[in-house]
Amino acid sequence: KHDDEEEDDGSPTKKQHGHGEKVATHYNTLQETGLAARSQSRIFYMRNFNNWLKSVLIGEILDTVRQSRRELSVLDLGCGKGGDLLKWRKGHISRLVCADIAAVSVEQCQVRYEYMRKRGHPNERIFSAEFITADCTKELLTDKLKDPKMEFDVTSCQFVYHYSFETQQQADLMLKNACERLRPGGYFIGTTPDAYELVKRVETLDSNSFGNEVFSVTFQKKGDYPLFGCQYDFNLEGVVNVPEFLVYFPLFEEMAKKYNMRLVFKKTFSQFFEEHIKNDQHKMLMQRMQALESFPTDNKNKSSSDNLDDYDHAKEK
Ligand code: SAM
Repeated sequence: KHDDEEEDDGSPTKKQHGHGEKVATHYNTLQETGLAARSQSRIFYMRNFNNWLKSVLIGEILDTVRQSRRELSVLDLGCGKGGDLLKWRKGHISRLVCADIAAVSVEQCQVRYEYMRKRGHPNERIFSAEFITADCTKELLTDKLKDPKMEFDVTSCQFVYHYSFETQQQADLMLKNACERLRPGGYFIGTTPDAYELVKRVETLDSNSFGNEVFSVTFQKKGDYPLFGCQYDFNLEGVVNVPEFLVYFPLFEEMAKKYNMRLVFKKTFSQFFEEHIKNDQHKMLMQRMQALESFPTDNKNKSSSDNLDDYDHAKEK
């Protein structure tokens, strides 16, 4: 907990207005829960599942880019408290840039990284890392990078991009940050809520809200879904309750062409699961990560190192 770090340090992040400020304040004040508390949570399996999915996605993309390059550089856009640090370590990358709007989260991410380095085997070559606090929908990361010419093989944007769809300018700037410094052949990977599913669900109900005892999604207005700024409130067991915006995927795909990007694949979580669970390694990882309630596990309170690396990204979409 880093309440004492809330004072104004004059950084641009502290001067934000509107939703950016709400998002930063929300994530900055999220408390870290211990592993035991997390394993008691009603969303225990869901967050482990999300973590499994990210592990598999990241592992596959790193394997793909490694076919043409040995030393990999990654941009973790919206890194949070560093929930994916261990995945980058397991993927043997060489360099990582972590960026997030929430200064306290970035600081926690850095602390975790330094701890990981200290704890690592002396012979292990753990990637070098750089940490940036920035509203990535309003500030250019190249202006903040130590080496403004740095290039990335992968940009990873996990459960973040939907915050940018408030306006076209913000969505475009985040996309620019994601893609501008990608090498030819580089990948932009990410996870974001399924706008079709959200609209489908709310449209089949009389109310403008749906959910259960664990989560709720509330639209401000039904029947009208503008391309940008289409806000809904998402609440998950007190873990996340900040405004989010629908990402209309065909528009996102079109916008990405400006940065020479071509869609390689887009899948729902259930499609991704169906395809990857057939692979024995992924299946074993799922068991180790306790990512499905029906999977037999040795001890619910014991967790894999992947779970230890899972902090604040518990989102079911
Ligand atoms: N990617 C991390 C993970 O998967 O563990 C964190 C995901 S968390 C659900 C969403 C993150 O997006 C938060 O850390 C939040 O501060 C960050 N975020 C939201 N809006 C942002 C913005 N405009 N610029 C940079 N980061 C932003």
